[in-house]
Parts: sequence; structure tokens; C-alpha cells
Amino acid sequence: DESGCTPLPVLGRDVTVPLVTGGEVTYAALDYAASAPALQRVWDDVAAYAPYYGSVHRGAGYLSQLSTDLFENARRTVEEFLDCRADDQLVFTRSTTDSLNLLAAALPADCQVFVFETEHHASLLPWRDARVTYLNAPRTPGEAVTTLERALADREPSPSSQLRSSRGGPNGPALVCVTGASNVTGELWPVKELAAAAHAHGARIVLDAAQLAPHHPLSVRELDVDWVAFSGHKLYAPFGSGVLAGRADWLQEAEPYLAGGGASKAVARRTDGGVDVEWHTTAARHEAGSPNVIGAYSIASACKALTEAGFDSLVARERQLIDLVRDGFAEVPEVKVLSLFGDDAPRVGVLSFVVEGWNSSHFAAALSAEYGIGVRDGLFCAHPLVRTLLGSDPQEQGECGAPEGAPGEKSLNAIRVSFGAGTPDEHVERFVRAVR
Ligand code: PMP
Repeated sequence: DESGCTPLPVLGRDVTVPLVTGGEVTYAALDYAASAPALQRVWDDVAAYAPYYGSVHRGAGYLSQLSTDLFENARRTVEEFLDCRADDQLVFTRSTTDSLNLLAAALPADCQVFVFETEHHASLLPWRDARVTYLNAPRTPGEAVTTLERALADREPSPSSQLRSSRGGPNGPALVCVTGASNVTGELWPVKELAAAAHAHGARIVLDAAQLAPHHPLSVRELDVDWVAFSGHKLYAPFGSGVLAGRADWLQEAEPYLAGGGASKAVARRTDGGVDVEWHTTAARHEAGSPNVIGAYSIASACKALTEAGFDSLVARERQLIDLVRDGFAEVPEVKVLSLFGDDAPRVGVLSFVVEGWNSSHFAAALSAEYGIGVRDGLFCAHPLVRTLLGSDPQEQGECGAPEGAPGEKSLNAIRVSFGAGTPDEHVERFVRAVR
């Protein structure tokens, strides 16, 4: 293979599925953007550890100590993978959605939030109770930066700006939330430039790396983002675990995300009948309850496997697969790829499209039933963005998968194909053949 990287072994690569046309075929999982299949290596690591697991943090036994070490070592492995700063804190969460909701719960008073309307709902919605400014969809990466700069320059002084000036500049605290790679178009966003713009205006920035981290090298230090969030199940680990990593101060000044054991250092009854709590000031502050040790361990295992495979060759291989799709699509004029920044904009292995004269849901169902290919159809939890890309009203409300698609009519939803480190060429070739 020219890229020097063969597909990494993943679970489910030999699963066969029946076809409506008769017979069966190996399943082509082309919905990595929703959940990527776990790496075999991650599964093997978990299986090797499973007989030895014990309670973490509080157990005195040998296996408890082993589990505690594995949990804390997993934290360090993921911090290294993300190239965090020495004083950053990494909180294990359930998912990207959970991570961003945790940060939303930790916003300082009067924090103003800036978010592009193009975001996934997980980065669009957690701030809705704060002072939010929704920014219009930019049509170039440069326009994203100027849009943000203009909005930050225009921002209102916050009511308590005097109190907040040490951390938020004269206008009080502000946070920008941006996605590194779109889950709809796969396009890469100018994160470093957006971070520089945020910081120049005294704002902080959180990166939604749910789609970036599995496909692209990621350095918190180099991008100079304040926080990063991602999910294990998109990074070739199983479901149920995620990460929020970054600046400790907002996290440690906030109330714990969940109240309970593990987050509390000392609890005592007061003479007036209530309870006094001293909360931890480490990541444990937001990890109350028994943590998902296997989830954390499997994310760390995936990080190691990706680092060992090398992002240079993973990116090069993914490029080849994207080119296979593009070349295939070039022969089918009815296919329209959705993009904000132009069809040739750099992207990860995620592409959404519509096929003129086809209902997207029927098209996706046919790919499954006739070819054993699993893609996704709908609005991909980014309703305003997909409506903008389809030329429909971004303010309209409606369910994913509404009926549509008579010849000549505008599509109301789209089809998404996505792939990654475990995808063999044959899956993408079959997809292209099926579309043709
Ligand atoms: N952000 C982006 C860009 C995503 O693609 C997704 C998942 N589709 C999320 C956030 C949410 O991830 P999770 O469902 O794992 O919380």
C-alpha cells in the first residue's frame, strides 16, 4: 500500500449480512463519524486487563491498586496524546456531549459564549442558558475568523466586568466553542487562527474534537486551545467514555458537575444540622461516583495504537480513500457533495451528499439492503448546518428523515459516508460502485 499503512484490525471486520438480492456479503461499516468500530488491539488490551480489575481509588487490595494505577496512567497517556500543557487537567466523562455540558456547567458568571450555527448540537446546545451569540455560517475558513473577530470586538461589557477583568479582559469572561472537523462535511476548521482571535479579545476557546481526534494529529499546546473534548467511541474505543481536557481554573472554581463520593475530600455534619463539604481540586472534582475505568483504559489503549500506527500514514491512507470517493462521484453528475468551504477544501474521511431525484433515506436503505453498506441519512444532529447546505431554511424545524426526493425537488436530508483507520479499500470501492 502506497501510504505505508494497511487498515488497522477492527472488531466486526468479518461480519456478514444478508442482501435482499440473495446471498450475503461482509458488512462495510461506513458510518465511522457516528461510531467507529473498536480496534482489535483495544479489545485485546481490555480482555487482558479484565480478570484483574478491582475498585479504584479506595480499595486497599492489590487489584484495587492495579486498577487505580491503570486509571491514572490512562489519564497521563491521553494527556500525552493530546499534548496537554503541564498544568492542564483531564476529566474522564461519558462522551463529547457530556464533556461540553460539563464545561457549560462550569462557566463563570456572566460568561458570553460564541458559537457558529454550523456546530453539531452537542456544541451548539449546552450553552443555551448562558449569554450566547450564534454566528452565521462562514463560506471560507478566513470568513470564520473574521466573523468571530467582529463578534468579539462588538461584545457588550458584562455586568460584572470589573470583577472578572483578571480572566476575561475588560468585557468579562467569554468562551468560543468550535468544531475541529465537521461531522457533516468533514471539513477542517481553522482552529489555530480562531484560538488566536479568541485570545486576542480576551476570550477562551473549547475545541470539539469528536471528529478531529480520530483522523488527525491534535496538539492542545500547538493549537493553543483552552479545552478539548472528544468521545472514545469515535476514536476506536467502545462506547461510554469521553474526555474534557484543558485549563484547570474554571473547572476548579465551579461546583462539581455531579455531587457524590470521589469528588468530595471531606464531609462533616454541621452543628446547625447541615453538611459541610470540601471538594477536590483535581480532576476528581468532576468525576463523582465510581469511574468508568475500562472506558478510560480503552481510550488510552486507542491513543497508543493510533500513535504507534502514526498519523502521517493514517492521514495519507484516508486521503486515498477520500480520493476514491471523489473520483467515483465525478462520474455521477447527480451526486452533489455538501461543503461550506468548497468541494476541494481539506477534510477528514467524512462526506455528505445528496443524489438528485433520490430520497436520501431510500438511497441509504438501498445501500444497506442491496450492498451491505452501512451509511447514515438525515440531518446528522447539525440541523441548521445541513439546512443551510441543502439550501432550505436554517430556521425551519422538523424531524430528520422527512419524506422528500421527487425528481427535481430539493432534498430535505442527506446521506453521509465516513471511514477511517480500519476501512479496507474494498468497502469504499463497493460504495462507489453502488452509487454509480
Ligand atoms: N461533536 C461532533 C462534531 C460530533 O460528530 C459528535 C457525534 N456525532 C458529537 C459532538 C457528540 O458526540 P457523542 O455523541 O459521543 O457525545
